[in-house]
Amino acid sequence: MAAQIKPGPSSSNDKFNSNRKPVLLAKLEGCSDNVNKAIIIPETDGVISVSSDRSVRVWLKRDSGQYWPSICNYLPSPAVDLFYRPISRQLFVGQENGTISEYILEEDFNRMEPIGDILAHYGRITGMIWTEVSIDGTVEQWILSTSRDKRFQYHNAKNGNPIGPPFVCAAWCTSLEYDAESAHAFVGDYSGNITMLNIKADGLQVVTTLTGHTACIEMLTWDSSTRRLFSAGHDRLIIIWDIGGGHGTAYELHGHTNRVTSLAFVSPKNQLISAGEDSVLVFWDLNAERKETPPWAESDNCESCSRPFLWNITGIFERKQFGSRQHHCRACGRALCDKCSQEQSTIPSMGFELPVRVCKFCSSNIDHTPLATFHDTKHSVMSITMDLQRKCVVTVGQDRVIKIWDVSTLI
Ligand SMILES: [Zn+2]
Ligand SMILES: [Zn+2]
Repeated sequence: MAAQIKPGPSSSNDKFNSNRKPVLLAKLEGCSDNVNKAIIIPETDGVISVSSDRSVRVWLKRDSGQYWPSICNYLPSPAVDLFYRPISRQLFVGQENGTISEYILEEDFNRMEPIGDILAHYGRITGMIWTEVSIDGTVEQWILSTSRDKRFQYHNAKNGNPIGPPFVCAAWCTSLEYDAESAHAFVGDYSGNITMLNIKADGLQVVTTLTGHTACIEMLTWDSSTRRLFSAGHDRLIIIWDIGGGHGTAYELHGHTNRVTSLAFVSPKNQLISAGEDSVLVFWDLNAERKETPPWAESDNCESCSRPFLWNITGIFERKQFGSRQHHCRACGRALCDKCSQEQSTIPSMGFELPVRVCKFCSSNIDHTPLATFHDTKHSVMSITMDLQRKCVVTVGQDRVIKIWDVSTLI
């Protein structure tokens, strides 16, 4: 199926044994329930994590080389999301009950000062982004947020007041991304749609809907330099949307065998890192030329041997042939019978890094050089974050363990 933007309101082909692979630097353990997100504190040997055990923890690296909590602060409800602003050491924590709590971390990261709460939503916070806007010469701080209460809302971060009415989605809002330069927000939802909103001081406007995923969007990531949006979801699919590049293309990346839960974009290298419940970290090379997947042809007969398909009663009767099931070649999109599409092949230029069904003709014309590398994280990944400066990736697993990886050989 081809993804579409709908107007509206160098690598190793060695999957796990390459020398260029993530090196595990540290494991942080101790949370008694799911860890929902963890980030490296820039320019500090520290990590901030939020957990369903209601804790916000700041972990500092000790002389022993291990990380131990210097702060462990419990909230009234499970801590499900975090947004950290290094320059001011402002920390926003999203809670299961819909509240966003703001803190300031002290310089030595041994204490956090509560600043205030925003009663932003009626359900679990699923995305939070802080931004600064200039309105008639006055600088305001906004906090944009999405929630399982099916709402996208933005509030004045200083006084907690909502700015205009919310955007109400038909399904749970599950992810959020924002382009501050053009003031556009992207809201991913549980049904697989992405809604693009124009965010203004006097309210928001729905710009368009991006359809392509068939299940919950878990993660959205924005590349401001080329104005591309990356989306990942429960349908195991990643889509690269050309939003502002003038092409309107949507490239698909198929490499995971289970839900894709998290993405990180490495801008200087034009690389995308993805992770998911299949315990695999994938590094996608986006410098290579990519093609969109073809639309699937509709036909009553196999487009190679003319055998009629199951529903083609006239054809079956006339040719005295049993009807065949319809399949599609992933490379050319032709409708084919099973016999004419039995080859399995990767199609890296179309994002298929795992073997898929192709026809005989296409199978002999595909360049199989992989455009991604695959690495075992040894835990089912719920979230990743990237520290570009130190070339580290943090993975949070369903096993409640936070792992810090050195990925300097890969990016
Ligand atoms: Zn055929
Ligand atoms: Zn083909």
